[in-house]
Amino acid sequence: MVDPSWQASGVDAFQRAEAAQIAKELAEIARSGRVLPGSIVERRSRCGRANCACHDDPPKLHGPYWHWTRKVAAKTVGRYLREDQAGDYHIWIDNDRRLRELVARLEALGVAALEADERTAHRS
Ligand SMILES: [Zn+2]
Repeated sequence: MVDPSWQASGVDAFQRAEAAQIAKELAEIARSGRVLPGSIVERRSRCGRANCACHDDPPKLHGPYWHWTRKVAAKTVGRYLREDQAGDYHIWIDNDRRLRELVARLEALGVAALEADERTAHRS
């Protein structure tokens, strides 16, 4: 599994310990199976009926509605959720954010290892 050149590179014991810690948390999130991209926001809206209370001053807006949005091929797509769903899926969104943070930390370790590698050319 482990690339042997890893040992030869600048990855020290501290970095290995941090990678192991990250791997443990990544595995826990993956095992939960509860990962959802995007975000969930609360929305209130106005309708098209001119005499509706949503056009009053101050307005009594419709809602709240819970809207899950995410990017698909650079476009934002959304889906309305029930309130109890919005409550349930918030943790899934949080897990997704945490996964991305953990991967970013792993990548930072990789960058640090490459920079510490004596074979890496100095910046000119
Ligand atoms: Zn209305």
